[in-house]
Amino acid sequence: MNDTPTESPVPSPQPAGFSRRDLVIGGSLAAAALATAGATRAHASGEPSVAVASANGLEAVGRAVAQMDAGVSPVEAAVHGVAVVEDDPDDFTVGYGGLPNSEGVVQLDSCCMDGPTMRAGAVAALEGFRHPAQVALQVLQRTTRVLLVGDGAARFARAIGFEEENLLTEKARKIWLYWKANMSDRDDWLPAPGQTEDPDVRAFIEEYGAVRPTGTINLCAVDGDRDVGGTTTTSGLFFKIPGRVGDSPLIGAGLFVDNEVGAAGSTGRGESVIQIAGGHTVVEFMRAGKSPEAACLAALERLVQATRVPYLLDDKGRPSFDVKFYAVNKKGETGSAALWSGAKHAVCRSGSKPVLLDSAYLYERDLK
Ligand code: ASP
Repeated sequence: MNDTPTESPVPSPQPAGFSRRDLVIGGSLAAAALATAGATRAHASGEPSVAVASANGLEAVGRAVAQMDAGVSPVEAAVHGVAVVEDDPDDFTVGYGGLPNSEGVVQLDSCCMDGPTMRAGAVAALEGFRHPAQVALQVLQRTTRVLLVGDGAARFARAIGFEEENLLTEKARKIWLYWKANMSDRDDWLPAPGQTEDPDVRAFIEEYGAVRPTGTINLCAVDGDRDVGGTTTTSGLFFKIPGRVGDSPLIGAGLFVDNEVGAAGSTGRGESVIQIAGGHTVVEFMRAGKSPEAACLAALERLVQATRVPYLLDDKGRPSFDVKFYAVNKKGETGSAALWSGAKHAVCRSGSKPVLLDSAYLYERDLK
C-alpha cells in the first residue's frame, strides 16, 4: 500500500532546528562528548540546563548538561550522556555487558525524542551494536520513520557505519549459564561444579538474589532555551524470550517528550508501563498542572489500578514488581517516583555537580 501522498519520499537528514553541530556517530561519539564537557555557552535565556535520569545515570546527567551548555540539543545531549552507561561492561542492564536473552544473545532496545520537532527514533531487539540510543537518533535524524526492529535495525546501523561487535561479555556469559543451569530441575542443564563460587556469579547472586531483575537508563533533559528531549536505552528484561520488547523503545511508554510540557520516562517492568502508556501519562499529568513528582505518582496509581492478574500481585494485593518514573517539566523542575521505597534518581543542573536524590514512592518495602 502507498504511503499517504502528503509524506515526502526523501528523508531530511538535518531537519531545520536540529543541526546545532555536525553529527558524530559510532565509537567517536563518547569521545566527542568528553571533548566538549566543561565548555559553556550560555543560552539566550540564561536559564540552567537540567537533566534527570535513573540512578545509574549520575555521570550521564553531568555529561548531558555539559553538552547542552555547549549548545548541543537536549535529545542529542541525552544520547551522548547515556553512552557512558552503554559502554560500561559492569552495568548488566544497558548496552555492552548487558545480560542476554534466554538464548545468550544480547538484544538492545532504545528510543529518543526531540521536543521542538516532536520527532522520534527507536530501535528494538537490536543485536551487535553497543549504542542503540545512537542508532535510534540516526533513525530520527535520517529517516521518515520512527521504529526499526531486529535484523532491519541491525542492517540500518551497519549501513550508517556503526561498529558491529559481540556484546556478550565473559561475565554476562557466565551469569547467563548460571541462570540456565538453575532455573529448573527438569530441563537439560545441571548446575556446574564450582559455578556459584565464581566471583562474577557470586556478585550477581548477592546483588539480585532470587529475583529476576531488570534495569535501564532513562534520561530526560531541558536546555537553557527550554527545549526538551530525552532517551531511554536498555538490554531489557534479563534472560527474556528472544524478540521480547519492553517499554524502553516505545514512544509514549518508556519515553515521551512534549516541548510545551516536559519529558518523562521509565524503568522497571516494561509490560506494565506499556499497559498505561507510562511516559505519555506522566507528561499529560504535568500538562494538567501536576509537578513532575506528583505526575509520576499519579501515573503509578493508574498502573496499580491496571495491575489485576494474580501472578503480578503480592499477598496484600500490591504489585510484586517495581516501576520507576522520571520527569522534568519545561521550567526545569524534576521529579521521580517508584512503586516501592528505596529508589533514587540522578539530577544535574548547569553549574552544579550531579546528585542522587530519593524518589517518592507508593509503598514502603516490608522490613525483612
Ligand atoms: N523497562 C525495561 C524493560 O522492560 C527494563 C527495566 O527498566 O528494568 O525492558
